[in-house]
Amino acid sequence: MAARILSGKEFAAKIKEAAGRRAAALCAAGVHPRLAVIIVGADPASEVYVRNKRKACEELGILSDHIALPAETTKAELLACIDALNADAGVHGILVQLPLPAQIAASEEEILRRIDPRKDVDGFHPVNVGQLAIGAPGLRPCTPAGCIRMLEYAGIPIEGARAVIIGRSNIVGKPMAHLLLERNATVTICHSRTQNLAAVAREADILVAAVGRPRFVTADMVKPGATVIDVGINRIAPKQLVGDVDFDAAAEVAGAITPVPGGVGLLTVAMLMENVVQAAQAQMEQGGVEG
Ligand code: NAD
Repeated sequence: MAARILSGKEFAAKIKEAAGRRAAALCAAGVHPRLAVIIVGADPASEVYVRNKRKACEELGILSDHIALPAETTKAELLACIDALNADAGVHGILVQLPLPAQIAASEEEILRRIDPRKDVDGFHPVNVGQLAIGAPGLRPCTPAGCIRMLEYAGIPIEGARAVIIGRSNIVGKPMAHLLLERNATVTICHSRTQNLAAVAREADILVAAVGRPRFVTADMVKPGATVIDVGINRIAPKQLVGDVDFDAAAEVAGAITPVPGGVGLLTVAMLMENVVQAAQAQMEQGGVEG
């Protein structure tokens, strides 16, 4: 295996260390960063994610409220819950764990829009999406922001690099493109209708896979020496997770690669912690928050 393995654990620890320092400074200034996580119903994968978020908060001295609503919660009830958290000056970050149960899933956009953009620590609110698009400060989606932070810590140059992203979702592909562009990469976004995908992918110095298909990116799609970031999380057996990249084969060609598990997933949670402290700090500076 030739590639350098980019360990999510190592880089997540660095992100969390920095977030923990900022959290401590805020506490010393009288503001105790606080995250509220709303989970509706009992999706087993969501429960694992929420537990991980809570653990990370505990580790860093960030307060976290776990609001578990029954599966039959109506849209009006969920919106009322969000309204109460928006109005609570002691809560700095609000996150609604997705997916939502069937009866309210269609209203996902309306529900996410209800979160005060200053507390939108997932970075999914259209205000934050717009801020990212115009390069203005705001809360950035955790997964792509975590990938960028990892590249920076790992000393992998972004400026001038050819970056190819496979996947154009609102939570990974598109924000990743904006974040790379902001750092002066030359960015191509590929998707399900892209022609000659392998040839386009092979041009990448930085190749990001966010497709949701097990081992979709094969070694022949990787330029020798490229950095491969595998965002995919695919469960192929009850206890087996694989990424969107054929890891063993791609690692023979790539210069650096993230594993799954143990890669981008850990960065996402770490970046959420940073977003909570960023939100708390911004709210403190604007006035009107309680510690
Ligand atoms: P999505 O389903 O919203 O988007 C998938 C994208 O892949 C689409 O834009 C689609 O155009 C593209 N695509 C599908 N088939 C393709 C093909 N044949 N060729 C080229 N492009 C194709 O998925 P998402 O929410 O962006 O998630 C992608 C993956 O990342 C999933 O496995 C998800 O579980 C994982 N994920 C991981 C984290 C993390 O923290 N590590 C966070 C979010 C998502």
